[in-house]
Amino acid sequence: MKPSEGAQKTKDKTILVTGGAGFIGSHLVDRFLGEGCRVIAVDDLSTGRLENIAQHKDNHRFQCIVDSILNESLMDEVVAQCDEVYHLAAAVGVKLIMNRPVETLETNVRGTEVVLRCANRHKKKVLITSTSEVYGKAMDDNGGAPLREDGNSLIGPTSRRRWAYACSKALDEFLALAYHEEKKLPVIVVRLFNTVGPRQTGQYGMVVPNFVQKALLNKPIIVYGDGSQSRSFTHVADVVEAMVRLMGEPRALGQVINVGNPQEITIRELAELVKEMTGSQSEIEYLPYERAYGPGFEDMRRRCPDISKLKELTGFSPRVDLRGIIESVIAHFQS
Ligand code: UDP
Repeated sequence: MKPSEGAQKTKDKTILVTGGAGFIGSHLVDRFLGEGCRVIAVDDLSTGRLENIAQHKDNHRFQCIVDSILNESLMDEVVAQCDEVYHLAAAVGVKLIMNRPVETLETNVRGTEVVLRCANRHKKKVLITSTSEVYGKAMDDNGGAPLREDGNSLIGPTSRRRWAYACSKALDEFLALAYHEEKKLPVIVVRLFNTVGPRQTGQYGMVVPNFVQKALLNKPIIVYGDGSQSRSFTHVADVVEAMVRLMGEPRALGQVINVGNPQEITIRELAELVKEMTGSQSEIEYLPYERAYGPGFEDMRRRCPDISKLKELTGFSPRVDLRGIIESVIAHFQS
């Protein structure tokens, strides 16, 4: 990294967003274009959609390359042109992972390998997005205390497919940290907790867009299991803000940091809240896990972040509460 880089004005920067046509990636693209940066997105449109970035199609500062991050010669060329890399391209969503495990493992492991190798060749700062899935069932095991970055993970057996995603992302983390320690690559790893907001589709199983879409159509809202499992949801705008602040914080280099909103809710309560906020006539129905995801599925009971590290490093904590999150999703599907 050039010594002058820290002082480089935001609008002179070129930012690479892998997965830039995806749900979270496209919000990062909006943010950086809004600040006047040049932005390059690489997305193979496997789960990303061009309509997420269509608003920028005439912006000469924006380029979207539809290709795979596994194309190393392309990645090498683009990484060389940029100042910072946000690596979001990944196979995401529990449903996708259950249905297409080979693709999940290959994209997540080899893709991050390519990104890190290219970033290292050109010594570019890179933020790797990981997931709270890497904690596995740890929260059930530690007396319910919120999850801390330095706590143990508890991953299920390899015969249960769900854990493939967690393991692929844990490997990404190991690799990123190894590049930092061994090769002095400026790397930050963020563990994202259930992120929600406009442009997230219900197609890959994510619970909030699913519930909202069903509620708006007055169709049954399907809760998997008995609905007593809980999650903590974070608005995508808060996730973007946290990532950008971390990228600008030298003390975050070489660190793994939780990004999430500690407010917790059970999935049954979530179904009721969505129903109330949409004024829906939907019935709330319960479906056993094996019928929802097929055999070999294991859910985690709770997953709530400890965000003291994020707060200490950036002074930031999420601002949009659960009602605000659901409102933004309702508005998105209504528009
Ligand atoms: N879930 C549900 N109905 C749905 C989709 C998901 O009850 O239509 C449940 C799912 O079993 C899990 C929680 O909601 O317990 C969150 O699921 P999601 O796939 O959004 O994220 P996860 O935390 O499992 O990665």
